[in-house]
Amino acid sequence: MNTEVTESDTIGDLFARYVVPNYTRFPVAIARGNGSQVWDTEGNRYLDLFPGWGCNLLGHCPPAVVDAVGQQVQELIHVPNTWQTRLQGRWAQMLSERSFGGQAFFCNSGAEANEAAIKLARLHTPKDRYKIISFKGGFHGRTLGATAATAQVKYHEGLGPLMAGFRYAPFGDLEATTRLVDDETAAILVEPVQGEGGIHLPPDGFLAGLRQLADDYGLLLIFDEVQTGCGRTGKWFAYEHFDVVPDIMTLAKSLCGGIAGGAMLTTAEIAPSLRPGMHAATFGGNPIAAAAGIATLEMIENENLLSRAAALSAIFRERLEQLAAECELVRELRILGLMIGLQIEADGEQVVDRCMKENLLVNCTQGNVIRLLPAMTLTDAEAHEGCDILAGVIKQLV
Ligand SMILES: *Cc1c(COP(=O)(O)O)cnc(C)c1O
Repeated sequence: MNTEVTESDTIGDLFARYVVPNYTRFPVAIARGNGSQVWDTEGNRYLDLFPGWGCNLLGHCPPAVVDAVGQQVQELIHVPNTWQTRLQGRWAQMLSERSFGGQAFFCNSGAEANEAAIKLARLHTPKDRYKIISFKGGFHGRTLGATAATAQVKYHEGLGPLMAGFRYAPFGDLEATTRLVDDETAAILVEPVQGEGGIHLPPDGFLAGLRQLADDYGLLLIFDEVQTGCGRTGKWFAYEHFDVVPDIMTLAKSLCGGIAGGAMLTTAEIAPSLRPGMHAATFGGNPIAAAAGIATLEMIENENLLSRAAALSAIFRERLEQLAAECELVRELRILGLMIGLQIEADGEQVVDRCMKENLLVNCTQGNVIRLLPAMTLTDAEAHEGCDILAGVIKQLV
């Protein structure tokens, strides 16, 4: 019997004994990352096409962010929001100038950004308006408000009663959405492209239709760009692809190049409704997140990464369309920039496991959608290597 205890076993033991088992984890401990490569504690190297669950849009340990954070920790780590910092002000300005010119509230995660948006929507509209329409297959986070906003029953089981006031419409169905509007509706909350729901793009005219609906009935239009934002789709924000501007937008995931951070952006007219005393986040907009957030925006600009994302997207599109043509198991490719979903007629978890055995990290959502959220800094060679491995694995399923 082999009684040798490897480094991984020891870590596994720590998790088994001391970490709440709310995640399904691979029995692999990641030790180090650089760009789109990661190494486990045994020294195995993996190509990562899902770095940081969408947070590492610049790859692992992007140098600009590493430098900015390294300098910032020596100057100031945290100050409460009872004070101003140049960094937070500058970060808000940079986000404003790259979006719709409004103001920012900073927090630490996507769910928190959506909570702020939900509160703001209720505060800004007349007192009797509290309902928010969200969409089936959507995902808005795990706090109780965001869970209620998330129209997927699997995430509600056992948690009730949920926060009241959410109404769920089918994604893409403007008529059904219109039918849900009544005198108590305050806002519409939607991901411009559904991420966790399986990379679903909105049908033509849907988002513009929601904008019109909001304007006609005096509702706020909230875009959850936690996954789609900050360059993921090849533009700063996904709404730019559809020529529709929201009243409120939420950001997190890749906002700070992998450091935890979130933000809610809104117009200067709406922002004052989130009046002093009504909302806060102790760590929101802290100097480390702000320094990382600024460095992230600067790196994307200095290295022309928005157009790089579009060029990489074209490689993935070509390679995966070719796979779809060759392999009957592939039902559909859905792609916008570096949000990539490949729906297959097979168990997707099996694909994830087999890819991992071939040192490729991908994700599966909704059971049969292989989801890739690659870094903008991926090389052409890495994109092709990843597509080779993924295509090989999927073809072997036949
Ligand atoms: C990941 C995600 C969230 C939740 O973000 P957290 O940082 O995990 O709270 C919310 N909305 C969308 C669209 C997401 O993809």
